[in-house]
Amino acid sequence: MCGGAIHGRGTSRGSPTAPSSPGPGGDDKSHCRRAQEDPEESVLLDYKELGTVGLNARPSLSSSRRQRTNARLVIQLARLEGYSVRPVAGGHSPSDLPCTTGFMIRMDKLDKLLEVNRQQQHVVVQGGMILSTLHSHLDAHGLAMSNVGSISDQSISGNRLYMLLADGSRVHCSRSENTDLFLATLCGLGATGIILRVTLQAERAFRLKETHEAMHIDKAIGQLETVFTEAEHTRMWWYPQTNRVRVDRANRCYEPAQPRFRVNWFYDVVLGYHLTLLLLFFGRFIPAFNYYATFLHSSETMLAPATTTDKSYKVFNLDCLIPHHTTEWCVPFSEARATLLEIKEWLDQEDASPHRLGPDFPIEIRVSKEDDIWLSPAYGQISCWIGIVRYKPYGFSVPYKPLFKRFEQILQNHAGRPHWAKMHDFTPDALRKQYPKFDDYLRVLNAVDPHGLFRNEYVRRHIFGETGPHADKELFLMDT
Ligand SMILES: Cc1cc2nc3c(=O)[nH]c(=O)nc-3n(C[C@H](O)[C@H](O)[C@H](O)COP(=O)(O)OP(=O)(O)OC[C@H]3O[C@@H](n4cnc5c(N)ncnc54)[C@H](O)[C@@H]3O)c2cc1C
Repeated sequence: MCGGAIHGRGTSRGSPTAPSSPGPGGDDKSHCRRAQEDPEESVLLDYKELGTVGLNARPSLSSSRRQRTNARLVIQLARLEGYSVRPVAGGHSPSDLPCTTGFMIRMDKLDKLLEVNRQQQHVVVQGGMILSTLHSHLDAHGLAMSNVGSISDQSISGNRLYMLLADGSRVHCSRSENTDLFLATLCGLGATGIILRVTLQAERAFRLKETHEAMHIDKAIGQLETVFTEAEHTRMWWYPQTNRVRVDRANRCYEPAQPRFRVNWFYDVVLGYHLTLLLLFFGRFIPAFNYYATFLHSSETMLAPATTTDKSYKVFNLDCLIPHHTTEWCVPFSEARATLLEIKEWLDQEDASPHRLGPDFPIEIRVSKEDDIWLSPAYGQISCWIGIVRYKPYGFSVPYKPLFKRFEQILQNHAGRPHWAKMHDFTPDALRKQYPKFDDYLRVLNAVDPHGLFRNEYVRRHIFGETGPHADKELFLMDT
């Protein structure tokens, strides 16, 4: 090692990562000197707290002080000691995807804006930048992302990547250079290498005007195509026990801002959060309270002022304040109606049962375009995303596994593909059927990382089909 306060916990665990010679760049000392000087590889070797989703990340290497170290040094040490390396950014994935018993490096301090090109409307940023930080930078330069999910706590991806590979080399990849590496990395599960720098295409900043409408679930399912094509951006929130759906539609506009928080404080904070949370807490003991919570939240979101106008990223994003377990899958849009009908049938049965498990509310339904990213769940098909939650009021544990299992069975009946960041049971055979490019992905992994330096327990279990205590998802679970 080249100094610093890094220390391993325990000795080598004999992981399949084979110790090997120093990477490109010559002898260890000169390599270390150069590496230490490179701020672009300066990462935080630290434990990332994932306890909020009921997981203990259990890394084997920590820093005695929270200090920056060099990613290439971490790779080198891991190779020598036979550990794996896991880059983590927001640590926001509600599964063991960012967890490791190897070395965990935190990328979220690599968050500098490096370049802004207002004419071509693109930016270059360091690879650990979180979306919320990116929005602020873009906003300051009159730019914005064209589309954003429900939250902005996760890190970025982009149109051109600069990566550190397992052998210590650094490469650029995009649609026109190292194309296979690029298409394998965009949904790459942290297994192809460490993303150090990202070029992102943005566009001129814009406002969105969002309206919402209450609808009966039967009407929403019956008119699915219309509901999802009437506006530029649409999402649906389904409140199962009330049979109601809230349809949010957002379109670009040039009207003055009318922000959500100022308009909706009483509904969002007092009713939608504090009172709902209290009812959910009592619902742990007396299930009827869960129904009151559903009814309250549903009425609150339907009754709240129906129009919000704000900067695009503020309208795209939502507050998910109550701790919860979550799972989300997508099906081809052609299967969406049949899937929702089957879910409805299941939920009607659930409702009639005295041992009702849930799910809680809302069931979020979204639609995305098809893409060509090898492991993207939307690869080659317009996709309908359906996500359920099970709340953990005040962080108390709640049963959720049987519920998620049943939901997943239904989604699998309709060619469902799981969200990679959420818990699922897919292994190589199922993945091969669902992802035409799965073997290409494996080919790239074996080429850029033949010794499995970047393979954590999640990747070993799902991508390589390994079984046993070292790959079991229960390894990191703290909750029931
Ligand atoms: C309440 C909630 C709402 C959510 N809503 C959405 C949503 O609307 N849309 C959506 O898509 N997702 C959503 N998610 C899922 C979540 O945001 C994603 O899982 C996202 O990937 C997490 O990003 P992160 O930066 O925290 O990644 P992490 O959890 O830190 O890591 C995810 C993966 O990326 C890899 N990785 C991270 N940084 C690097 C790097 N620099 N180089 C190489 N690999 C790296 C890690 O190794 C890991 O494999 C939601 C999650 C929650 C809990």
